[in-house]
Amino acid sequence: MFGLMMQQPLLISSLIRYADRFHGDTEIVSRRVEGDIHRTTYHEVHERARRLAHVLVARGVKPGDRIATLAWNGYRHLELYFAISGIGAVMHTVNPRLHPNQIAWIANDASDTWLFYDTTFQPLVDGFAAQCANLKTLVAMTDAARLPASKVEGVLAYEDLIAEGSAEFDWPELDENVASSLCYTSGTTGNPKGVLYSHRSTLLHTMVGVSPDVLGLSASDVVLPVVPMFHVNAWGIPYMGAMTGAKLVFPGPNLDGASLYELFETEGVTLSAGVPTVWQGLLGHVQKQGLRFSSMRRTVIGGSACPPAMLAKFENEYDVRVIHAWGMTETSPIGSACALKPKHRGLSKEAVLALKGLQGRPPFGVDIKILGPDGQEQPWDGKTEGELLARGPWVLARYFGREDQSPLVDGWFPTGDVCSIDPDGFIHITDRSKDVIKSGGEWISSIELENIAMAHPDVAMAACIAVPHPKWDERPLLVVVKRPEATVDREAMLAWFQGKVAKWQEPDDVVFVEAIPLGATGKMLKTSLRETYGKHPLPETK
Ligand code: AMP
Repeated sequence: MFGLMMQQPLLISSLIRYADRFHGDTEIVSRRVEGDIHRTTYHEVHERARRLAHVLVARGVKPGDRIATLAWNGYRHLELYFAISGIGAVMHTVNPRLHPNQIAWIANDASDTWLFYDTTFQPLVDGFAAQCANLKTLVAMTDAARLPASKVEGVLAYEDLIAEGSAEFDWPELDENVASSLCYTSGTTGNPKGVLYSHRSTLLHTMVGVSPDVLGLSASDVVLPVVPMFHVNAWGIPYMGAMTGAKLVFPGPNLDGASLYELFETEGVTLSAGVPTVWQGLLGHVQKQGLRFSSMRRTVIGGSACPPAMLAKFENEYDVRVIHAWGMTETSPIGSACALKPKHRGLSKEAVLALKGLQGRPPFGVDIKILGPDGQEQPWDGKTEGELLARGPWVLARYFGREDQSPLVDGWFPTGDVCSIDPDGFIHITDRSKDVIKSGGEWISSIELENIAMAHPDVAMAACIAVPHPKWDERPLLVVVKRPEATVDREAMLAWFQGKVAKWQEPDDVVFVEAIPLGATGKMLKTSLRETYGKHPLPETK
């Protein structure tokens, strides 16, 4: 017997329709690339998203077409989130910090046909657009008067495009399982892989994301996502804002401590979210100037482990509650968040801080387990480590364009992270099996750097490991075995990377060794390299 309730698909358009209807006058504030502060409302965002949707359909965009964006956090990006997904096309947010060749590779893999970009990225677009044969329509996210000079002909101005559209447009009733957005992973083993979210997965993720033990979002909140809208949909915050009617504040390109602090204070921000590196800059500024947060009460820290000192500073000195969260592109991203249980109430301050330093427990919807090296499930004793596997309705089943291969193991997604789980389900990530280097919230693929090094005629073997860095979390150190009689030195080796990867992805230093230790299967033993060179002093340049 079936239940007798309405069948209503879970659609992204329903989020902005709701926000307009019940929170229409709530503000969306953005620092624009033009430099000024811009104010709009959910009502206006909905109207402009409908105009944009109308234009896209009128200009031939079909359901399933991939439309790329290269943009900072801002109201126009938000309009695109709703317009593109709302018509059944796929919102493909591209990370502008990648090398132009990497962007071209991703845009080609996704077969992007349109590209919307912030004017700051004009040189980047000039650098890769010619390599993307499918890219037919380019739109600079500005008005006609501020259209930058471009090598590509026929670039449209966003505001002109919106003016062409009609707000009479009605959102189509889509199947909730159709694709809504696409994000690429950072490509640790070879090229990046596309993770294709659906309307259903996004809506379920949003509903759980706003709940009390995750972000705990409400209409009374003012949320400033520092995490970029090109990083797993800013952890879902644009959708969560619309679902709750929270005011959203977008920082645009200015992510330094002073600019962020100014917005926190002038806009009354209550909740923010970002990677540890961002908070380091912010805390540094606040400390130096002797400032206080007058409205900020919570901050979500994730993407890499939150350093205990940062946690203690926020909680003890600034009275800001840290929500330490774990997730990945493949998990939409929320996999766990650290909210304590009633049983923890009597604990000492130190014990509470230690608990908050864990990555927390999964909310309803995400299930987890850990497997030992022999593939056996490990106990949840808070000590035994294993590879973390996850499953749930917002966890990836297959990568885009590789539908014939399943990355799953018995229906579970292997995350590549190594952790222990305590009896209450709290995760403690201790390592990651994939060895990527996390620099300022961005990932640097050690394999890519090794491959480049190995292409040098003087190099016999190369390994790249992460070395802790006070500002960027981690920076790459290259360990090289030279060929006999080779003459390459440190400077020449570093120069070899110029132009092959983005500047910030180049290694910081090189050490030359006689041999790199190998494991039983012939793989380089990076654990051993980390033991030897993990504290290598880096030059103070970056
Ligand atoms: P991404 O797909 O770029 O979001 O990166 C996901 C990866 O970041 C995870 O697999 C973890 O290795 C790492 N990560 C995310 N959040 C945390 C956290 N709170 N603590 C430690 N590592 C984290």
